[in-house]
Amino acid sequence: MKKIQAIRGMNDLLPDQSPIWQMVESTLIDILQRYSYQEIRFPIVESTELFKRSIGEVTDIVEKEMYTFEDRNGDSLTLRPEGTASCVRACEEHGLLYNQTQRLWYMGPMFRHERPQKGRYRQFHQLGVETFGMQGPDIDAEILLLSARILRELGVLSAVTLQINSLANAESRANYKAALVSYLTNLQSELDEDSQRRLTTNPLRILDSKDPKTQSLLNNAPVLLDYLDEESKQHFSGLKKLLDAAGVQYQVNPRLVRGLDYYGKTAFEWVTDKLGAQATVCAGGRYDNLVEQLGGKATPAVGFGIGLERLVLLVQEMQELPAELNLQTDVYLVAVGDVTEQAIQLVEQCRDELPYVRFMMHCGGGNFKNQLKKADKSGAEIALILGEDEAKSGQVVVKHLREDIPQQTLLIADAIEYLQTFE
Ligand code: ATP
Ligand code: MG
Repeated sequence: MKKIQAIRGMNDLLPDQSPIWQMVESTLIDILQRYSYQEIRFPIVESTELFKRSIGEVTDIVEKEMYTFEDRNGDSLTLRPEGTASCVRACEEHGLLYNQTQRLWYMGPMFRHERPQKGRYRQFHQLGVETFGMQGPDIDAEILLLSARILRELGVLSAVTLQINSLANAESRANYKAALVSYLTNLQSELDEDSQRRLTTNPLRILDSKDPKTQSLLNNAPVLLDYLDEESKQHFSGLKKLLDAAGVQYQVNPRLVRGLDYYGKTAFEWVTDKLGAQATVCAGGRYDNLVEQLGGKATPAVGFGIGLERLVLLVQEMQELPAELNLQTDVYLVAVGDVTEQAIQLVEQCRDELPYVRFMMHCGGGNFKNQLKKADKSGAEIALILGEDEAKSGQVVVKHLREDIPQQTLLIADAIEYLQTFE
């Protein structure tokens, strides 16, 4: 029979990879807690309308990347392609934005029907950070410092560059759009195919076209930063000042735009040259209009998303990870003869008294030699050996597997005390 395989672009995470993911995830959560951010969880499936209304009809995500289906009631549902829209929906629905500020995070899978390649998958994972009710630029600086700390504490800061830009308010953006379109219309035939289409649908996206010809045509194009309204200008220079004072290095990239329509004012990306074409590890910005756009009261907001697969790839690229990371056990219990009951009792007592030590109990029988082989393969430092004689006398043999230390037969209480050195 033909075996069923995983969906293309949707990856299994195998046990040899889970330790690095757990290390990255726990570092992220630890840092988020140190910044007093709270976790929020929301469903993976939402009404299709939510994403259309927030991300924008004429975006890559909504036009061609969403997993959309009708459920049995005939409702159009979509697997979330990102978290911001759902986060706003959940906050509004539960009154979290009423007369208060929020600093929130979430972590989980997102779904986009893209062409799978290194760093680009159809199910991928993001850490999302969203803040509400603060106009900034102090909060913009805070989340940038938070993202910088994440990258620094994971040892990848030297592999990334922070790029920032201001996308202005809606009105100045519209003025700029008109200027850009009139400049590019004359060059229309020379643009790449996607950009030609975007000229009428979403011209700002042409700025981050990956096509070299289009990029060179943009060299003389009008620059968004020249069109900033007074408020956006002040916000942007305020942010730059705070980043300078905090010692965060950045480049102003006037062509940086985001693939989602809801951004205005601050936009930023942490980019790397270590992951091929998938350069953006972390991306975000300000979206002061989104809450209102989704039916709530106007609420300033700023946030970012980190692609966890890309972050993990980068950590692996930059750090020699300690070998212990992949060891799952410290002590392996070998039980020879008719001693299963005593073995279970012993290992549970050990787990009670030594909560920081990881025990693996041999299961499935086998002779002494075989069990000892398994103990060695488990990576454990020590084997506890329980035979029928030991079981009768309330003793156990302590055998070092990696160091040249003579084995000892100890009373159980003494063996437990001996193992305390692991804590
Ligand atoms: P890209 O330009 O790489 O397509 P994007 O602008 O679509 O990214 P966002 O929607 O801002 O990305 O998502 C935030 C982050 O999530 C990205 O910076 C990236 O690290 C990660 N990400 C986005 N799409 C994917 C994907 N298909 N596979 C893996 N990670 C992704
Ligand atoms: Mg994309």
